[in-house]
Amino acid sequence: MKHLSALNKYFWKYRYRFFIGILFVISSNYFAVVAPQITGFVVNLVQQHLPGAKPSVSKPVHDKLVDWFIQTIQSVNLSFGWIITISCLTILLSAIIRGILMFFMRQTIIVMSRHIEFDQKKEIYRHYQQLDTHFYKVHSTGDLMNRMTEDVSRVRMFTGPAVMYLINLVTLIGFCVVNMLRKDVHLTLLVLAPLPLLAITIYLVNSVINKKSEKIQSLLSDLTTNAQETYSGIRVIKSFAQEKAMLGFFRKNSEEYKKNAVGLAKVEAIYFPSMALMIGISTLITIMIGGIQALEDSSKVGLIVEFVIYINLLTFPVSAIGWTASMIQRAAASQKRLNEFLQTKPNITNIANPVTAKVSGDIVFDNISFTYPHTGITALDHFSLSIQKGDKVLLLGRTGSGKSTLAQLLLRFYDPTKGSIYIGDQDIKNIELKTLREQISYVQQDVFLFSDTVTNNISFGLAKTAKKELVEQAAIFSSVHKEILGFSEGYDTMIGERGVTLSGGQKQRISIARALIKEPEIIVFDDCLSAVDAKTENEIIGNLNRYLHEKTAIVITHRIFSSFPFDKIIVLENGKVSEEGSHATLMANNGYYAELYRLQLTELGQETSLD
Ligand code: ADP
Ligand code: MG
Repeated sequence: MKHLSALNKYFWKYRYRFFIGILFVISSNYFAVVAPQITGFVVNLVQQHLPGAKPSVSKPVHDKLVDWFIQTIQSVNLSFGWIITISCLTILLSAIIRGILMFFMRQTIIVMSRHIEFDQKKEIYRHYQQLDTHFYKVHSTGDLMNRMTEDVSRVRMFTGPAVMYLINLVTLIGFCVVNMLRKDVHLTLLVLAPLPLLAITIYLVNSVINKKSEKIQSLLSDLTTNAQETYSGIRVIKSFAQEKAMLGFFRKNSEEYKKNAVGLAKVEAIYFPSMALMIGISTLITIMIGGIQALEDSSKVGLIVEFVIYINLLTFPVSAIGWTASMIQRAAASQKRLNEFLQTKPNITNIANPVTAKVSGDIVFDNISFTYPHTGITALDHFSLSIQKGDKVLLLGRTGSGKSTLAQLLLRFYDPTKGSIYIGDQDIKNIELKTLREQISYVQQDVFLFSDTVTNNISFGLAKTAKKELVEQAAIFSSVHKEILGFSEGYDTMIGERGVTLSGGQKQRISIARALIKEPEIIVFDDCLSAVDAKTENEIIGNLNRYLHEKTAIVITHRIFSSFPFDKIIVLENGKVSEEGSHATLMANNGYYAELYRLQLTELGQETSLD
């Protein structure tokens, strides 16, 4: 339960609304117990009018408002018929008032819970964004989404309905029991005896239901994942003609789900009969004992009726004890899961007074080593490199040699295990993260574009949508302008799930345009031309000097661009620099670079001969 204390700040924030809500609950329940009292009065009145009626021995006690009503109605000397009519209208009126108050009770408390839900989602969303790459590597997107949606809804079931029912049941039970005790302590105790049993039964049934629903929930999530994978992998399934196998798989999952859902329905079926049984027993006791008493004292006839109404009024709150308790339990479990993430601190943070000036200048990797925290893979091993401001550097190396890791360390997605990285004599740890990342454009290996227009995707890194000419210029430099014009709505074409499907190469070039338009001080192309043909690739690299004249550029690739005069070429092998120098020096070196170059020449030769 202590996990739920994280919600106190929200209850405090909405305290006025909450307090007024509580007042509505209390007053609505007060009007709930007005009706049985007046009914009891009316029944007694009728009883008195019957021929041969015994006079009442005791005078029934009512609460103040009802007493006042009875006295007033009797003092004005109305006919019997009128008294009955006015009493019935008063019962109706109190029901209407109760209804109105209940409406406001929901308006305040349930609306409060919606506000809390919204605030909580915002808090989680903001927090998720601050967490670093490592967090996202160890937690699946599904899990993150689930916590933000499912768990938050469960917590809302606590801040809204559970809290409301809890206050409601406490006050309604309180009002009923006080009124009953006031009238007949002995009868009250007898009548209420089966109710705790009812509460316990319902609590137990509820626990079973909860366990089963959890199971069903996870089976459902499996089923959804199963279906989702089928649809996203439909081409693979079709090409391998595996439809039947997939159907079998789905059927097996569905079968399991059905079995559990049927089991749940069976347990739920016990719910209402057990409630009806207990209520029946209480009613029976009332009528039996009350009946015996009524033989002595005719005012007890009204009491029997009044008690039966109380029992019916109590049915709902008593049965709500069980599910309110389980709602609170579930909310506590969910809040625990939320707290787990909310209390996770990002590893990569700003120092106390970070540098916020524009970052530019020489980049120095000073003897850095890096081991991935959760796998223990050492991606960089005592790596040193210095790049001068404005240099264009080519970084080559086999897959897995550590090239992407190097780029990610530069952006502080991770911090090096050993050594430091400097930009313009400043350790990047001292530079404000936002400033650092604003000044570096990182074009990632696996492109991600948003389901939005081409223009909005390209101007993503800017504060507002860029001017048309700038967007077009960036697209021209990344050699994708002509293709964009070919789309049905040009730059306003939607891409991604809701729009056109782009080829791998088009996606890569749009992501390059997105990086260029930022006019960063440093740009890193991480193997982002792999799906582009050699000619276009050369064209883009050729544009570098024009677009990024003063800027530093690191081009990570598996292909050699002999036509472009790189200031420095680095060959990375197992996280270490194995070759470094200009094209000529590396060719003379006769290592990996020279080998790759020769290989590429033969490939090119073959391509041309094929033409
Ligand atoms: P490259 O970009 O040169 O292909 P990477 O920098 O991506 O190489 O990877 C270097 C090494 O680090 C590889 O052995 C790879 O398996 C490992 N690696 C890369 N990314 C991660 C990660 N997120 N978690 C754990 N290990 C990783
Ligand atoms: Mg890579």
